[in-house]
Amino acid sequence: MFSSVLIANRGEIAARIARTAKRLGLRTIAVYSEADAGALHVRLADEAHLIGPAPAAHSYLSAERLIDVAKRTGAECVHPGYGFLAENPEFAEACAAAGIVFVGPPPAAIRAMGLKDAAKALMEKAGVPVVPGYHGTRQEPKFLKEKAYEIGYPVLIKAVAGGGGKGMRRVDKHADFEAGLAGAMREAKSAFGDDRVLVEKYVASPRHIEIQVFGDSRGNVIHLNERDCSLQRRHQKVIEEAPAPGMIAAMRSAMGEAAVAAAKAVGYVGAGTVEFIAEASKGLLPDRFWFMEMNTRLQVEHPVTEAITGLDLVEWQFRVAAGEPLPLAQRAVRITGHAIEARLYAEDPEKGFLPSTGRLVALEFPTGEGIRIDTGVTAGSEVTPYYDPMIAKVIAHGKDRTQALDRLGAALARTRVAGPRTNLAFVAGLVKSEGFRAEAFDTGFIDQNLASLGAVPRAFDRAAAAFGVAHLLAREQARIAARSFSDGMSPWDATDGFQLAGNRDAALPVLVDGENVSAALSYGSNGARVTVGGEGAAADAQAIEAGNAVYVLRGGRQTVVRLRDFEEFDVDHLDTGGLIVAPMHGKVLAILVEKGGAVSKGQRVALIEAMKMEHALTAPIAGTVTEIAAVAGSQIAEGAKVMVIEGTD
Ligand code: ADP
Repeated sequence: MFSSVLIANRGEIAARIARTAKRLGLRTIAVYSEADAGALHVRLADEAHLIGPAPAAHSYLSAERLIDVAKRTGAECVHPGYGFLAENPEFAEACAAAGIVFVGPPPAAIRAMGLKDAAKALMEKAGVPVVPGYHGTRQEPKFLKEKAYEIGYPVLIKAVAGGGGKGMRRVDKHADFEAGLAGAMREAKSAFGDDRVLVEKYVASPRHIEIQVFGDSRGNVIHLNERDCSLQRRHQKVIEEAPAPGMIAAMRSAMGEAAVAAAKAVGYVGAGTVEFIAEASKGLLPDRFWFMEMNTRLQVEHPVTEAITGLDLVEWQFRVAAGEPLPLAQRAVRITGHAIEARLYAEDPEKGFLPSTGRLVALEFPTGEGIRIDTGVTAGSEVTPYYDPMIAKVIAHGKDRTQALDRLGAALARTRVAGPRTNLAFVAGLVKSEGFRAEAFDTGFIDQNLASLGAVPRAFDRAAAAFGVAHLLAREQARIAARSFSDGMSPWDATDGFQLAGNRDAALPVLVDGENVSAALSYGSNGARVTVGGEGAAADAQAIEAGNAVYVLRGGRQTVVRLRDFEEFDVDHLDTGGLIVAPMHGKVLAILVEKGGAVSKGQRVALIEAMKMEHALTAPIAGTVTEIAAVAGSQIAEGAKVMVIEGTD
């Protein structure tokens, strides 16, 4: 076994690799970009080295810098994780040339599987079933169109260099072929710098089922059973599980044998995944699956295989890379229960799954029987635009599928995340959805159910907004109460003043998810009641305060509420206190009065810029400015003193 490893990755996978490496007694060497200086994977490692600026091309994708660190630190091996350089044969070669073991397959195996067309030709030769189609070298549109006709519509045009679902177009009729081809080529060119495509039969009722394989350097290859990754959006996996629902023994062994044959055909060593597409209109059948591609690395979804087999695949990777034989023979591989993984992303399902960035103001995961969380971030971490916005993988294992689903559902319900928008409510909805639970799904399931899963533009949650406003008002009142003994009042005291004034209604300007909204306050004998758009505060919401905002979580959905502009508060009834504090973090733009000057009640005395908006501070009372504590042009913290006005009696 090795004594040290350089982990050439970041985020959850770097953290996950570090855990196993430490357990095996390896010294763990992390690398990080400037954007990741405080990242979890850096904190978990024994040592960490800066490799460059945030953009991956200058850091995590720089083979040169990584190998330089590996040499300097005396790393015996490099684990590439997934993504970045994991399937880059030149990087694997460069490691070898530097005398460092690359924890992955031989470069020749990566190359053989790197291009979809060549891989398919190779697989056909090895007797592995391949989706009917054209994967030759000719690329003339007219020729490809003829091929599509021969294959029969619908067809799928795929980028030869493809990955991550990019450069893929389904074409349903002959007349649409040219447009689909042009789109696929354009996308392929921009994503991979290679616009070559192949055309294949679009499989009806498709299920994505893949086999985890493992090879050692002595020529042994076994498989660790299947994973079902049919819940996809834009051909990207969202939820994965093992075993595949409806899998029968005859199909599992046929698929397993095909996958092992595929791996053997390329001299495979290490962890790999052979992806198949199955036609499932009549259930899973041993003659209804075809090879799609092989991923020559550890997959994101490997934890579901670990859960049902009880194995640590990263440990296996280290062992075979160190030259040890596979720890188990095929017949000793067991399946225990069922496991399901949900990918939690910083993205907004209500806005076409647009990636969302920003600081995680809250992040809490539950613990529980059968629950595993793989994450690379903690509360306070920043989700940046530089890398994949995955926050965590939530994995549940149970004695059967129902228990695994129930555990996953419960774990998602108890997950708290605030800051960037996330797909939490969306994946929680998927786990609960009838079709998924009833095993009645294929790869089109998500697209067909976007509306019922809430992944459509929606109005903000009014009850959550009302809850947020009520929370902010209560907070301000508590602050005022705490301060009233010492140094007086702030402009926020207006909220208190409403009450002092007895029964009255007021409109309070707030920002809900950045939108200008008016909250209605009515004060009765029971205190304040807040409504937004006619709805009162939700009873089932949670509030997380961050700066001057409150993040309201309800049903996995986030609603951000801010009090808009205290200038618009009705301050007429205020007649006590002359302390003015900054209502939020910001920059002092101007002080509009001078020390010793007289001010009238409601007069604008200072301007503060916060959240890209200008806010005027007004005098709560008439009087004389006795102290000015803030300086124009400087930053000011929420609650800091701006000035003091002494009232004129
Ligand atoms: P990529 O490498 O871009 O991820 P894949 O070849 O792995 O592309 O395909 C991604 C997904 O597209 C599959 O999981 C499956 O859902 C769908 N898909 C691929 N090939 C077919 C096909 N022939 N028929 C139907 N769906 C397909």
